[in-house]
Order: sequence, then C-alpha cells, then structure tokens
Amino acid sequence: MSLNGIKILITSGSTYEPIDPVRFIGNRSSGKQGYAIAEALANAGADVFLISGPVILEDPKGVNVKRIESCKQMLASCLDVISKENIDVFISAAAVADWTVEKPAKNKMKKEDNLPPVLKLVENPDILKTISNLSNNRPNLVVGFAAETENVIEFAVQKKKRKGCDWMLANNVSPENEVFGGDENTINFLNEKNELEVWKKMSKKNVAILLADKIVEHFTVLKNSNKF
Ligand code: C5P
Repeated sequence: MSLNGIKILITSGSTYEPIDPVRFIGNRSSGKQGYAIAEALANAGADVFLISGPVILEDPKGVNVKRIESCKQMLASCLDVISKENIDVFISAAAVADWTVEKPAKNKMKKEDNLPPVLKLVENPDILKTISNLSNNRPNLVVGFAAETENVIEFAVQKKKRKGCDWMLANNVSPENEVFGGDENTINFLNEKNELEVWKKMSKKNVAILLADKIVEHFTVLKNSNKF
C-alpha cells in the first residue's frame, strides 16, 4: 500500500522569537529530520504540508512548504491547514521555542541610549498539545518528538501522556551525540500502547523511511479492519 490520499502535516526547524525587528531568540535545530520525513512521505504518495521555521534547506520535492518564523505563526499556519484540509497525520518535528519575549520592541533597541535590556519571557503555546487535543478535525495519528539529555525513555513516556499524542520518537540530544545539525539520529520509538522499539543509530533519511513504513502499516491495519 502507498500513502495515496493520506494528508500529512509536518512542522520542522527552529522558531525565531523576536526581541526587536532585527534580533531574535532561536535554537540549533537544522530542520534536517523534519525535511527528510516530508520527503519520504511525499515519495510514499502522501499529500504533504510542511510548516517550517527558518532553516537553510531547500524545499523537499513535491511538498507544500510554508515558511514562518515564530511559534505563534507556526501554530496559526498549522491550524489554518487543518481547518482547510482533512489532515490524517500530524508530525511535530520542529524544535519550537518554549518561551517568547512578552513585549518585543517595535524599533531596533539602541545600545547607546539604554542599559542592557532585561527580557521578560512568557510561555509559548504548545503546538503538539494543542493539535493532540483538538475536538474538531483532530488528525487520526499525532506524532511527537522528545529531545532529552537524560532518562530519555522515562521522560518520553511522561511527555507522550502530557501532550496527548499517539506516537513519540525520543532521542538523546546530548552534545556528544551531535543530533542537532548532524545527519544521524538514534530513535526510541513509542507507539500508542507505549510499546518501545529502539532503532539503531542511522541517517535521518533512514529514520524518515522507517517512520513512513510505520505510517503505511498503521493505515493498512485501519483499512483492513474498515476503521478508515
Ligand atoms: O516539551 P518539549 O518541547 O520537549 O516537547 C517536544 C515536542 O513538542 C516536539 O514534538 C515539539 O515539536 C513539540 N512542541 C510544540 N510546541 C511547543 C514546544 C514543543 O509543538 N511550544
């Protein structure tokens, strides 16, 4: 079976949270994993929508790409796609900033006139949690990522429950693993029953292909039991 007729929405990359018109708070996410997933799913026949934070990657072939900057813009774009398309799968691969600046300055802040600014941060909306808990149009399958530096599996189980998603791909992002910006990933895959599969270290492209296979399997089972 291919993923023909299945609509998939993916977030990828970092977010930029504005401090003033020229400065922002960002993170080290390269977007490589999310882009590889978008490409693998498009190759498997799905209709793929990618909402991407600022990255230096080219748009994957055959994918509808929208570029945004902040978490709030990412959430608004996701909800817009979900309201217009019948999205079957949501994959949250973006490294969304947990906090944003409460009141970004309208004009560039001047060093000359001021003491160093004190930035007040406030919590960003949680996109994965919001989409996992939609009462209308919740995608059939919601997949999150968990980047941890310790107790990876234990934290991933807790995070999956807290967010309300169906599957979780957890990885160890300690600096020695070179996940951020690197080309390889080691994934601990948790399904809806919290059954764990430890995937050996592999390229982000192969992680994407394995995830695409899992999604094909998921919809094959649903279709064979007339549940989809
Ligand atoms: O809570 P934490 O950031 O560790 O959760 C990681 C998962 O949640 C990832 O799938 C990420 O894309 C998603 N996330 C989100 N919105 C946020 C923060 C994280 O969708 N504001």
